Amino acid sequence: MLEIKNLTHVYGDGYKALDDVNLSVKAGELVSIVGPSGCGKSTLMRCIAGLQRPTGGEVSLDDTRLEGVPGNLAVVFQDYSRSLFPWLTVRDNVSLPLRRHGKNRHERRKAALEALESVGLADAGQKYPWQLSGGMQQRVAIARALAYRPSLLLMDEPFGSVDAQTREDLEDLLLRVRGNDGMTILLVTHDIDESVYVGDRVIVLTTAPGHVCAELPVDLPAERDQVATRELPAFVHLRAEVGRLIRGDQSRRGVRLSAGESPSG
Ligand code: ADP
Repeated sequence: MLEIKNLTHVYGDGYKALDDVNLSVKAGELVSIVGPSGCGKSTLMRCIAGLQRPTGGEVSLDDTRLEGVPGNLAVVFQDYSRSLFPWLTVRDNVSLPLRRHGKNRHERRKAALEALESVGLADAGQKYPWQLSGGMQQRVAIARALAYRPSLLLMDEPFGSVDAQTREDLEDLLLRVRGNDGMTILLVTHDIDESVYVGDRVIVLTTAPGHVCAELPVDLPAERDQVATRELPAFVHLRAEVGRLIRGDQSRRGVRLSAGESPSG
């Protein structure tokens, strides 16, 4: 469904952020992309979203080379506080992008309510984003993406700004809604456990310039549980492997890590 070939990006100041990234994603897959801060994860997402033209290589969606922002794509960023309009109600925030779909007011309203229900916010439609907690605001951002019924959902550190408990709830929410309409999901995270917990596959990127250093299938039961899954030997083994790859790459490249410091930096 998504094909990335020889993707390279050099910023205007000469800084190389991505170096020959190759990646294929099947329809319906949930692929986690993990790597240390600054390894080019957001740059990669912006190139896939058509928001940034890569200086080399190409991105294709359904066998069509991407030349701009594709219509069947939704993006959820980390910073929900800047992605929601504070002067619009929650329902209007969710239904606004549907205008692009040419839906009438009634259809937009129905789709927004359904999406809000799927993220457990059926009663919050008339509220304003600033009346909600951070975790609830991020659920609104996810509902907005779902209401759009994208075939590809890009999530860039979507749970990075919420507390640990909310983060787990949102990971489970993502796993619950992923079946909707056979969505394909790319989730960027610097959290190794998260990459394994939600993913069908984990892509490990190297320290900048980002390059795919490993693709690891997640051999865990489809039904995941925050406690039981994380205790499984397969989970423990895989998270250790991802950690080793990131740590190994950082130390090879001279990035110093002190004892107990997370490889995410
Ligand atoms: P990540 O999401 O993995 O933290 P980014 O894609 O945000 O990484 O950034 C990768 C590298 O590219 C970083 O070193 C960052 O400073 C650099 N970078 C990002 N945006 C720009 C820009 N507009 N101009 C120059 N360098 C940039």
